[in-house]
Amino acid sequence: MTQPFKKVHAITGMKDVLPDGSASWEQLEHTVRQWLAAYGYRNIRTPVLEHTRLFTRGIGEVTDIVEKEMYSFTDALNDEQLTMRPEFTAGIVRAAIENNILYDRPQRVYAMGPVFRHEKPQRGRYRQFHQIDVEALGFAGPDIDAELIVMLSRLWKTLGLADVRLELNSLGHAGERAAHREALVAYLEQHKAILDEEASRRMYTNPLRVLDTKNPAMQEMADNAPRLFDFLGAESLAHFDGVRKRLDDAGIGYTLNPRLVRGLDYYNLTVFEWVTDQLGAQGTICGGGRYDGLIELLGGKSAPAVGFAIGMERLLDLCQQSAGSAAAPECQVYMVHQSDEAQRVAAGLAEKLRDAGLAVIVHAGSSGFKSQFKKADASGATVAVILGADELASGKAGVKWLREQAPEGQAQQETIPQDRLVIELKQRV
Ligand code: ATP
Ligand code: MG
Repeated sequence: MTQPFKKVHAITGMKDVLPDGSASWEQLEHTVRQWLAAYGYRNIRTPVLEHTRLFTRGIGEVTDIVEKEMYSFTDALNDEQLTMRPEFTAGIVRAAIENNILYDRPQRVYAMGPVFRHEKPQRGRYRQFHQIDVEALGFAGPDIDAELIVMLSRLWKTLGLADVRLELNSLGHAGERAAHREALVAYLEQHKAILDEEASRRMYTNPLRVLDTKNPAMQEMADNAPRLFDFLGAESLAHFDGVRKRLDDAGIGYTLNPRLVRGLDYYNLTVFEWVTDQLGAQGTICGGGRYDGLIELLGGKSAPAVGFAIGMERLLDLCQQSAGSAAAPECQVYMVHQSDEAQRVAAGLAEKLRDAGLAVIVHAGSSGFKSQFKKADASGATVAVILGADELASGKAGVKWLREQAPEGQAQQETIPQDRLVIELKQRV
């Protein structure tokens, strides 16, 4: 005897997008692809699963992601340590090195899709979420850093988002960070008493991250800590200046945030985040920066690079607050019919309408006209096409406008010959 089946639920922090909600996703994806194409970015698709050590190396051992957020497991079939990607950059860099696409010419690439982090689920923070990830591989200058930021500002404008602001910082070069780090560790040692457990643990391994704390008790300490920015040399400052000039050229405002360090180990020089006040605690919708050391760190020939990632759930949340959302219609034309024979005629006509580019649903099964019209209304269709006994006998079809008023000069409901249906609806719907 079969056991009764215990209902399965989705995994905590992982969400379904249902048909009524998917239109906004598809619309955003469409807008994003057009936006990226306008700047010469091409799609790259890498696997969701990678070897764990790609991320431990690429993101850094002492980071939130690697310390506590990765979905890692042993592949029981061959004993390999694998991880569901928690971000795109490491995988894209691996693919670029492995396939040797980096060295003839630089590459502008993007990816869009799910990433996985074991975090505490809340608004704007999920365990499977989606990113739009954009990487410019092989570019060294501040021109491209600025271009990425200008590009993002265009996306916000296209999406009608006014309330997003830019925060900017420079993390300099490795040598400058080392000098700052020494000063910072000395400072943290003086303030040991107020460091929380995580900060005490990280003060020697990743002291910069200590400053990124969200612990209110440590804010003042973090505010007064030695600033990396004050350790930057002429070259780093010139790069930063190059970015800032170009943002000024484009009329893009920003706040300098010397405490902006980003969560991942691999950043240098320019780092930035776009934030909004409209999403509560999870207000960062995009983060990015330069990572000139990562390609070499992952075994490639040294090459500079810069990129960013947008959180799609947060972006959609923000878009919906700005504009509201409407479910997309299921079709443009809904066909109702009264007999088995009428259903077959309707099915044939529907194929012709689809040939003409219209989206059509033929009512499935048999039910009364009233119930069929209810379904037609609920489908969001613009018109219903009616095939009753009379229409069938006379080779005609009824056309009824469902949503708005019929276009000027046309009846709300009328009867037309079946062989005129395609031409009439193509013009009108
Ligand atoms: P946070 O400080 O909010 O944890 P992060 O620095 O970990 O963000 P990134 O690794 O920079 O985030 O990822 C880029 C973007 O992805 C973020 O700016 C955010 O919009 C989004 N994001 C990050 N984590 C999540 C999550 N758990 N759920 C939904 N979106 C997320
Ligand atoms: Mg995080």
